[in-house]
Amino acid sequence: AAELDPVDILAVDDELGETERDIRDTVRAFARTELAPHVAEWFEADTMPREVVKHLGALGLLGMHLEGHGCAGTGATAYGVACRELEAVDSGLRSFVSTQGSLAMYAIHRWGSEEQKQQWLPAMAAGEAVGCFGLTEPDAGSDPSAMRTRARRDGDDWVLDGSKMWITNSPFADVAVVWAQTDPERGAKGIRGFVVPVGTPGFTVNKITRKLSLRVSVTGELVLDGVRLPADAVLPGAEGLSGPLSCLSEARFGIIWGAVGAARACYGTALEYAGRREQFGRPLAGFQLTQRKLSEMAVQVAQASLLAARLGRLKDAGRLDPVQISVGKLANVRAALDIARSARTILGGNGITLEYPVFRHMVNLETVLTYEGTEEMHLLSIGKAVTGVQAFR
Ligand code: FAD
Repeated sequence: AAELDPVDILAVDDELGETERDIRDTVRAFARTELAPHVAEWFEADTMPREVVKHLGALGLLGMHLEGHGCAGTGATAYGVACRELEAVDSGLRSFVSTQGSLAMYAIHRWGSEEQKQQWLPAMAAGEAVGCFGLTEPDAGSDPSAMRTRARRDGDDWVLDGSKMWITNSPFADVAVVWAQTDPERGAKGIRGFVVPVGTPGFTVNKITRKLSLRVSVTGELVLDGVRLPADAVLPGAEGLSGPLSCLSEARFGIIWGAVGAARACYGTALEYAGRREQFGRPLAGFQLTQRKLSEMAVQVAQASLLAARLGRLKDAGRLDPVQISVGKLANVRAALDIARSARTILGGNGITLEYPVFRHMVNLETVLTYEGTEEMHLLSIGKAVTGVQAFR
């Protein structure tokens, strides 16, 4: 029989097309040589060097599944594979790509004017400009409809007041897509999105420090104090909560694949370690209790890979439903976190250090479980779909 690949025991990658395989190999090689050797250092330093952004742009990974305006225009599965290979190194690297491409760029691409697209998308695709996406607020997380940030009209201008919390990439962003509640007067309809260049008077960003998770991904708080924007700063196509939610669906799709990368990395590390570390006169891999852990991981990784592949094909065909995205995000992040915790036990004391990637993945995945819809929110979305009854409020 052909040799089985332990991290892809069902050979799910055989389903990838040629371009998708090329993208996998290119991103994997880049991630292994340019990112993996430095990532523990970046994690300790609580940052990621800005040059990395340029590299990601040069590889075509920023907004890669978008068409036109300098974006690569790949399929959804290809984008997923790239997310997987990046997150195999660190969830924070995939978070950067998700926020740039699927949140900030996608919002402008899907809902923006031609002028907004021309101004921002080519620079963002090249990694010359960094974008962030401000939806969450200190008092509005799982329930973004409770947001307090307001946009009011003053003549033709818009004036924004409020604050946004937990905003990925914001400490080094050049532009923020900010969602705000508008007053119903003068034809404005509910929540609208605004393109806010950093440096606009009244707009400040405070970096959130002392995070114990996702330290390679920089996070900040946005403060909007009478931020005056011209009439054309609004995203013309988006009205209501469906605007930001459409972006979140894009980013969640990347997480479904990314979680597989983190899971594979933890499992691969534990497998290798168990094969060489000896106790009681033989390798850890030779103990039944350890084998059970490794076998469970192999099964979970295979299931998560299949799930990602299936949802990738549905998205490539334009048939992916948000509830299916909830199933994938919930199941794959759970599986990855389970695997990370189990892998950590196999590494014993070594498992708690930055010498190995496992603990770093584990604490990162705690954030991945919470952002882009918490586990509970996805359970409630699935619950609503299967029962027909909403239980959110
Ligand atoms: P809460 O909404 O207060 O929830 C707390 C707990 O209560 C959760 O377990 C939740 O599931 C549970 N809960 C709430 N309501 C219910 C209910 N009805 N039934 C059952 N349980 C419930 N946001 C952005 O807009 N842009 C970003 O770039 C961004 N990046 C982030 C980066 C990091 C590192 C982190 C940690 C967060 C980021 N977020 C971002 C915010 C993230 O999306 C929110 O943290 C998330 O939506 C949860 O909101 P919350 O933290 O306010 O928790």
